[in-house]
Amino acid sequence: MNFKIGLLKGDGIGPEIVDSAVSVLNKIGEKYGHSFDFTAYLAGGCAIDATGEPLPKETVEGCRASDSVLLGAVGGPKWDTLPGHLRPERALLGMRSALGLYTNIRPAKLYDSLRAECPLRADIAGRGIDLVMIRELTGGIYFGERGRREGKMGQEAYDTECYSVAEIERIARVAFNTARKRSRRVTSIDKANILESSRLWREVVHKVAEEYPDVTVTDMLVDNAAMQLVKNPSQFDVIVTSNIFGDILSDEASQVTGSIGLLPSASLGDGKCGLYEPIHGSAPDIAGQNRANPIATILSAAMMLRYSLDLMTEADAIEAAVDRVLREGFRTADILGSSDVKPLSCTEMTEKILERI
Ligand code: NAD
Repeated sequence: MNFKIGLLKGDGIGPEIVDSAVSVLNKIGEKYGHSFDFTAYLAGGCAIDATGEPLPKETVEGCRASDSVLLGAVGGPKWDTLPGHLRPERALLGMRSALGLYTNIRPAKLYDSLRAECPLRADIAGRGIDLVMIRELTGGIYFGERGRREGKMGQEAYDTECYSVAEIERIARVAFNTARKRSRRVTSIDKANILESSRLWREVVHKVAEEYPDVTVTDMLVDNAAMQLVKNPSQFDVIVTSNIFGDILSDEASQVTGSIGLLPSASLGDGKCGLYEPIHGSAPDIAGQNRANPIATILSAAMMLRYSLDLMTEADAIEAAVDRVLREGFRTADILGSSDVKPLSCTEMTEKILERI
């Protein structure tokens, strides 16, 4: 089959890691008889430099016309002082709303071969971590009414958390459907002891749960969830939560698995086209040095094959190759830990993965 893939290489290490993922997809194409037609578009700091805006119209139109989109990362110190609407990160928010991507899926898995690098106690790491965090992406406080005003104590600022029944229903369904493909357990995270929006969240999640009698749903308050992720992360399978809670907890979940250089993510809406990207940023400190770990982006490409292009065997092949490379002891500098092997460069790690596909 032939697929049109939009590439947003972005800034910093973005171009290096996206090139790695492209070579992996080309290898998959050769092996399984598909062709990937890649078109690169500008987004983030590089787009600001070239066009004056973080997400040019051509980028949005090109991505909308693609079967799926692969993103490296955007941002860097060069653009940090620009006003909010011109910051590289606006490109991410703009793409999510342009493609209607209301779900963010982040798997957090501790590889057996990297258990020693897990920052948690050995007995906790020994029980394993393999969870999927499903975060609502286009609602809640990040998109609610905000502003500044005169208050009782002088100037004040406010942001508003607001969720509709429809927004909660659709993200809950994504969580229950995902759980059906795993161990059929969903933990819904909220702050229902304080927030009205969380009380509605809880009510709606339980209403949707009635459609999925084979899936167990448990509620957990967000403060407890933050503790449980470091105390007993093996208890979790599928987690579903709001935009802001998911933003914070997914970073925590990724940290307990070792390196952020390993973890992929997918942003999806109702259609097939999704946005796939590593969870890390543009790592300006190592940009252009061929030292970046390409695995998170390569695994993002695998997620793209699975969720947007329905190529399950091909996605499995990429994940198995990554697993093998790690089991065989190959490491980039960020996942070296206590190992005394010579770290591989970004291109060397990519080669090792290509050889195993
Ligand atoms: P970062 O994730 O870019 O880097 C944090 C640390 O992790 C750095 O030491 C970096 O070298 C290391 N690191 C990250 N990815 C790595 C990889 N693949 N291989 C090896 N090491 C890796 O976070 P930051 O430093 O807070 O942010 C840098 C820039 O990235 C900022 O401009 C920020 O706004 C942007 N950012 C973008 C995204 C995105 O595009 N989705 C996400 C987060 C941050």
